Amino acid sequence: MSRKKGKLYVITGPSGTGKGCICKELLKDIRNVFSVSMTTREAREGETEGKDYFFVSREEFLDNIEKGNFLEYASVFDNLYGTPKDMVIRQIAKGYNVILDIDVQGALQVKKVMPEAILVFLLPPSLEELRRRLEGRATDSHEVIEKRLGQALNEIKLIGEYDYYVINDEIEKAATEVQSIMTAENCRVPDRATEIIKQYE
Ligand code: ADP
Ligand code: 5GP
Repeated sequence: MSRKKGKLYVITGPSGTGKGCICKELLKDIRNVFSVSMTTREAREGETEGKDYFFVSREEFLDNIEKGNFLEYASVFDNLYGTPKDMVIRQIAKGYNVILDIDVQGALQVKKVMPEAILVFLLPPSLEELRRRLEGRATDSHEVIEKRLGQALNEIKLIGEYDYYVINDEIEKAATEVQSIMTAENCRVPDRATEIIKQYE
């Protein structure tokens, strides 16, 4: 029985929780594709244009908002980040699962415009461990890290709006849990009952 359309998975959670690492694991499965966001943030060392992000000026970003090119966008820690709409819609139609790594506010916007999206909230084992991860990543200044940590609890308080949660204590274990969620979602009956019955008539 073919699974015609792909699904939209939103992986969210406080900065430094490990969303990037988990998404990398999920992308080892060829049925999953990553949605590359657009941002006004400066590229970090090692980041590649078009693979990690599309790095654009504020003007270019605002122009894209005006043209309605985003599925969602948000101002996160003083920079703008947005999900280009076209790619998401095209890849889902082709049968791929599209993976979004976006912030908590953006995820809730996606749910409003695409209620069928599956929201997964990735949690750190503790806020102390979150600090260790942000400091260990060493990609942000002390000030930026404090800003990100300061937001973490406020973001966690919105977890009630989400479909699933996964605690990222060990990357492999957490990735397996997300993969299990994806497997379960593929086995859901709603919307497919007629198609399933037809296979046996
Ligand atoms: P996010 O995308 O949520 O901001 P990252 O994927 O960049 O987070 O991870 C933040 C830091 O934490 C990175 O240095 C990463 O290697 C580390 N990390 C991620 N998951 C784990 C884990 N389960 N245990 C220990 N360190 C982790
Ligand atoms: P970073 O600067 O660490 O790459 O990302 C900062 C935060 O912005 C992360 O929580 C990341 O998930 C989020 N983010 C990345 N892309 C998007 C996007 O397109 N939209 C929204 N709303 N958030 C994003």
